[in-house]
Amino acid sequence: MNNLKKDVEKFLHDFTCEYYLYGSGQKQAIELAPIYEKYRYLFTKDTIDSIPPEERKLRGFLISYYLGEKTSSQNEEISRKKSEKRFYIDEHEITYSRLHVLLNNLPLREERERLFKLKVEFVNKELNPIYAELLQKVYETIREFPYGRYYEYLTRIQNIDFEYYKNVFSSFLKDTQEIYTHHMNKQLLMQLGISLNSAAVYDIYYLFRGKEYDYKFKSNYLVDFLKEFLLNLGIDLSKQKNVILDLEERPTKSPRAFCAPCEIPNKVYLNVLPQGGYRDFETVLHEMGHTQHFAHTSCTLKMEDRYLGDMGLSEVYAFLFQYLLTDPVFVEYYFDIYGEDLEHFIRSVILSRLYIVRRYIGKFNFEIWLHKTEDIENAPEIYEKELHKALFIKTFKELYLEDLDLDFYSANYLRAWFAEASLSDFLKTKFGKKWFINKKAGELLKELWFEGKRWQIEEMLSEVTGRPFDIAPLTDTFKRYLKIV
Ligand SMILES: [Zn+2]
Repeated sequence: MNNLKKDVEKFLHDFTCEYYLYGSGQKQAIELAPIYEKYRYLFTKDTIDSIPPEERKLRGFLISYYLGEKTSSQNEEISRKKSEKRFYIDEHEITYSRLHVLLNNLPLREERERLFKLKVEFVNKELNPIYAELLQKVYETIREFPYGRYYEYLTRIQNIDFEYYKNVFSSFLKDTQEIYTHHMNKQLLMQLGISLNSAAVYDIYYLFRGKEYDYKFKSNYLVDFLKEFLLNLGIDLSKQKNVILDLEERPTKSPRAFCAPCEIPNKVYLNVLPQGGYRDFETVLHEMGHTQHFAHTSCTLKMEDRYLGDMGLSEVYAFLFQYLLTDPVFVEYYFDIYGEDLEHFIRSVILSRLYIVRRYIGKFNFEIWLHKTEDIENAPEIYEKELHKALFIKTFKELYLEDLDLDFYSANYLRAWFAEASLSDFLKTKFGKKWFINKKAGELLKELWFEGKRWQIEEMLSEVTGRPFDIAPLTDTFKRYLKIV
């Protein structure tokens, strides 16, 4: 068993390094096949069957890769179709990934609609049959293991009571419905001249593109800001030998920041290509949250408590950093936005946060229904219904599988969003509104990070705050900044 765990760690090292080298533009192609080949024995039915049920995290990890292997031909076909696809718009040739960038920046509504419908048509015709085949394969394959359906497997392997969360999240939807509809309607009318009930999903990309205050988030301030922000928490980035901040410019480097924990805690890469703008700062802070979590993890923890387990836990720390950008005290302190500008800015970023939480609740409700019934045929209608119940805008039922994250990742994000608000409330109560410049708050975070992924989100919360999972702190945050006057 010990050798097997060592091999899992080596596999994760090779896999993450390859991902880092490709994403940072140091390799032109990602070569994962030889890595899988080298560790093939890990992901076989025999190996998985030999692991006792009490090794829940390890079994879950190996089974998810086993499922990945069984569906690799579908996954490859989907990637191939996406990368080969070209849309033709007014004599311009546009790739699939470029289409998304364009959609975020089109001021003309008819243009957004036209482009989005091209995407929907492509997904529906070309990808949906393969997505459906892939999902069917997952449902069938999981029956090789003694868990029952995919839904029961996820419940047991992740040790999460999804029904409980479904109820909790439903009451959040009810609780925030009035402020959501009121403020979304107002914002849409003000910025795009359309009301909430006539808005569609392609309008939202444009509504929240967040360009208005970009001049306050300059690319040449990003690195200095990061260093100062961490130093104020008692973390000296220049002395962190295990954190490698990759700032080098390379032609094929990913402009989107990402964290690659090649070896936890000894070698954690943070890939950054400063672009400037609110969204860039937000992503970098998020990834810095992951980076500090992994870099402060105790090296004496078992492999599974450093690498495996609750995927949502590290997201809590990432969101804690990211959502400082929705805290007026923080934004005023680091970005010199004041008075009415500050109020306007905060209202807009908080509203986009509420939108995304509600969207994920809609997604999660749909996913629960789908995995419980395994009824792929009737799924498009349920997807559309659940999203509408959460968002009150036009969505496209054809995207029901394109929008699906396997393994209930939607639930991880949701639990993390609510837990982040509890943790941030706790820090404010204990260290004051400016907790982010208090070294004692930094000490407390380091103590949490030291525990790696040993806890589930709920355990971490009760350990720190002495209270169980609670939706009130996030609900109150939205109500505080989105008053109806
Ligand atoms: Zn993350």
